[in-house]
Amino acid sequence: MDSNLKYNIVSIPNGKTFISKELLSKHLDLEDNFGDQIIVETNLDKNQEEIIISSNIFFKNNCICARCSEEVVREFVANYKLRASYNLSLTSREFDTEIEISPSTTEIDISDGVRESILLTLPLKILCNDDCFGLCQYCGKNLNKIENNICNCHIKEIDPRFTKLKDLLTKN
Ligand SMILES: [Zn+2]
Ligand SMILES: [Zn+2]
Repeated sequence: MDSNLKYNIVSIPNGKTFISKELLSKHLDLEDNFGDQIIVETNLDKNQEEIIISSNIFFKNNCICARCSEEVVREFVANYKLRASYNLSLTSREFDTEIEISPSTTEIDISDGVRESILLTLPLKILCNDDCFGLCQYCGKNLNKIENNICNCHIKEIDPRFTKLKDLLTKN
């Protein structure tokens, strides 16, 4: 398996080239919880002056839900765009990285940039589901696994209000 993100810029032809690679987390120096299938789909666009490398990175992360603490595997897509120019006089914010290359440059390695964009794409808080009910703050039960997502602690909490309401109704 081709387990690196090095592109030989001499052998790729002028014009557009598409290269798809599949990597393991260890190839990008990432933790094991990024799994064994990181797919990097790259479009290379080469001409006399420059080479544009733009990648879509499909990866999974095996983590703990920030609300309910259950293990969860979520999928993400990161993007990375590099411009390598033989004359880098004009720069653009469109790219994550811009480098100047010389006619003797044979290879461009985007591993560091791809690794960084994976880490930046990963949210600080990951939920098993956007509607996760989390844990009961009193008994610690996972409310996603309880019928109606309400445990006994909350039923007791609601009771007094119902009694007051009943009082009001009976007074009238
Ligand atoms: Zn959750
Ligand atoms: Zn509870």
